[in-house]
Amino acid sequence: MVGFGFDVHRLAEGESLVLGGVEIPSPLGTVAHSDGDVMFHALVDALLGALALGDIGEHFPDTDPKWKGAPSSAFVEHAVALVKEQQCRIVNIDCTLVLESPKILPFKQTMRENIARLCDLPLERVAVKATTSERIGYVGRREGVHAYVICEVQPA
Ligand code: MG
Repeated sequence: MVGFGFDVHRLAEGESLVLGGVEIPSPLGTVAHSDGDVMFHALVDALLGALALGDIGEHFPDTDPKWKGAPSSAFVEHAVALVKEQQCRIVNIDCTLVLESPKILPFKQTMRENIARLCDLPLERVAVKATTSERIGYVGRREGVHAYVICEVQPA
């Protein structure tokens, strides 16, 4: 089964920028109820999507104080546990970040390692890619950041 996830968060001054579990030095960070890790949020939706288990908003409502301030890695861990509960395993994960700045290259490897560890996958089954929006649209104006994630899940 294939799962797809997408997320977007607004960017604002004075917020932290956490992507793929890595805190990235940046004058702009994501505005969010949680740590605003768009990559992990898209990853959760991809994992849930592969098994038609709903979406991140259903599992982690922002009205639930249980998840307030929770690192998004906790959402990923929960989604991975749901995949295992369904007697399935993750085959691979492919992520694309779209943001104008800063450059993501120095952080990609750590993001891959974080995802591989959380999803119990070898590093070579986790791809992290990044691109800009060529200064076009709200991502290009640094008003927001996008993440897209696709994954394959199979019966264990
Ligand atoms: Mg989100």
